[in-house]
Amino acid sequence: MLVDGGIELSKSAVLHALRSISTENPKYLIDTHYHFDHTDGNAWLHRLGATIVAQENTLKRLSTITRVDDWDWSFPPTTDDGLPTVLVSHAKVIPFSGTRVEIVYYGPSHTDTDLSVYFAQQDVLATGDTWWNGYYPFIDNENGGSIDGMIRAANDNIAKVSEHSIVVPGHGPIGGRAELIRYRDMLVAIRNSVAALKAKGMNREQVIAAKPTADFDAAWGQFVINGDFFTKIVYDGL
Ligand SMILES: [Zn+2]
Repeated sequence: MLVDGGIELSKSAVLHALRSISTENPKYLIDTHYHFDHTDGNAWLHRLGATIVAQENTLKRLSTITRVDDWDWSFPPTTDDGLPTVLVSHAKVIPFSGTRVEIVYYGPSHTDTDLSVYFAQQDVLATGDTWWNGYYPFIDNENGGSIDGMIRAANDNIAKVSEHSIVVPGHGPIGGRAELIRYRDMLVAIRNSVAALKAKGMNREQVIAAKPTADFDAAWGQFVINGDFFTKIVYDGL
């Protein structure tokens, strides 16, 4: 069982990692959400024999052209062999290889397709892109995401884990409950700063110019989303 197949270009690296675990092909691939960097590997993994599991909105979004203005990009529909065939509405449990795999829909958060995947015996939680460990996250406002949904999902993740759990983010290194709390607190602080400026009647450009993320940029703004871009994303979602 694999959680997210990555982009197709990483096929040989993913295969190499899988072969280091087992000579058998994966039976299941779980899509944490519809974004291409998490689902572009669907087709080749399905051709290898994996049943693709996803939230029902992932099927809708992969079946049609999806526009993401923040990337200035329209994603073409996924080919039929890359579409999920086992759909999750709210929650699903898959008994697998001696463990309980608990799959739960976050509700609208990073997108409107986000699933958490919890391996009960191993105490490992995969969060998809509701968590970027150490980085400002992208939030797909046009496709069901929002800052408030992201904060709700961050709180859900904190509630699901203990100090002993291993938590696998959508981007960044694996971490645990302490890092999740740090991330949630950053989201809440920036959300409240941007909301206060917006409530004063400032437009998006004025809020970005006010640098509400300044205290956080050195720690969190060093990956694909810098402070200005994150401010824009938060503003648009409020
Ligand atoms: Zn994503």
